Amino acid sequence: MFEHGYYGQFGGAFIPEILVSTFEELEAAFNKAKEDPAFFNEYQTLMGSYSCRPTPITFAENLSNHFGGARIYVKREDLNHTGAHKANNVMGQGLLVKRMGKKRVIAETGAGQHGVATATMAARFGFDCTIYMGEVDVARQRPNVFWMERLGAKVVPVTEGSRTLKDAINEAFRDWVNNMDTTHYVLGTACGPHPFPEMVQYFQSIIGKEARRQILETPGKLPDRVFACVGGGSNALGLFSGFLNDPGVELVGVEAAGRGIETRQHAVRLGTKDASIGIAQGYKTYFLQDRDGQMCDTHSVAAGLDYVGVSPILANYYETGQVRFESATDKEVVEALTLTVRKEGIIPALESSHAFAQAFKEAPQLSRDSVILINQSGRGDKDIFTIADAMDDPSWREFIIGKAEEYRARK
Ligand SMILES: *Cc1c(COP(=O)(O)O)cnc(C)c1O
Repeated sequence: MFEHGYYGQFGGAFIPEILVSTFEELEAAFNKAKEDPAFFNEYQTLMGSYSCRPTPITFAENLSNHFGGARIYVKREDLNHTGAHKANNVMGQGLLVKRMGKKRVIAETGAGQHGVATATMAARFGFDCTIYMGEVDVARQRPNVFWMERLGAKVVPVTEGSRTLKDAINEAFRDWVNNMDTTHYVLGTACGPHPFPEMVQYFQSIIGKEARRQILETPGKLPDRVFACVGGGSNALGLFSGFLNDPGVELVGVEAAGRGIETRQHAVRLGTKDASIGIAQGYKTYFLQDRDGQMCDTHSVAAGLDYVGVSPILANYYETGQVRFESATDKEVVEALTLTVRKEGIIPALESSHAFAQAFKEAPQLSRDSVILINQSGRGDKDIFTIADAMDDPSWREFIIGKAEEYRARK
């Protein structure tokens, strides 16, 4: 199934000639690290002392009782340093950069979460760091830009095209072509040219490895269904990795249905007619594109799911039927988030809340003997600006207006 970076018909490495040697160097370093048991140990030790690993699984007893069906367990990736599973990927790549002897990292970021994670890793390892971010996103995501800069990263606003994520990706590749000897490109999810999808899945597989062991301890059986949200696909692949060889475990990926699939304001790449197979950004997968191959505008209340492509590994699982794909609307997601906070005192990120929303649709149909596991990919309290907005909280609105007035009066 897996040949030269292909997963079925998906994947590959469609890269400019000039980058071929850099990709070969990266692939060689990754393969060598993968075969060295000391490397994964070093990675686990680092994540244990820097990022609260192993993250626990939590029995959501109140939610389980509320729905009266399956027992619901939650894998707590929100407890990672910087608040999401993204830390697994960036710290792993950081260790690889150290092995390759490079001193500079670059990354693309949309909402800024991957930028903050990469800048954090760079600060820890002492690397120079440049983050490419669309000008529109820089304006929208000031809190993340603030932290990237404090962490020592140079944030470059990209003024090309639509001035958002896809333009930031192009700009990052341009930088890499000019600086490949010194620089590593820290790709943020299980997408892009080979070996990135495989490498990101490898680092994120720590989620599934831990989860399988933990759930066999309590409740003492494998889950019947496992739910994860799907943006690029890295947290889903990370959790699914632990259960791919367990035929009794059904894997469910949840995409962002935004304002509804029929509105075309969504980010559902698998199983809608708005998406088709294409090659862009160096790899082959399903993209939300029009007939001429122009990328469509996507929408989700969750910035991290708002992406035109999807991991080639997941695209293949979609075609083979190894993973079932569903979607949740913005409205369902905000409801699931509200309920989870209220019932369990845990605050999932809007991205993660997609997995919760779908699990909540299915839990009541299952018996009390059944166990489901939800990946809480990140925490929501850091997204207060977006969440309070999505919940349309009137006091929050007053607070923001009050702050603005305070600042204006200060000058
Ligand atoms: C970035 C992000 C995602 C989406 O990325 P994947 O690669 O699909 O995992 C999901 N959840 C959170 C909390 C994120 O920050």
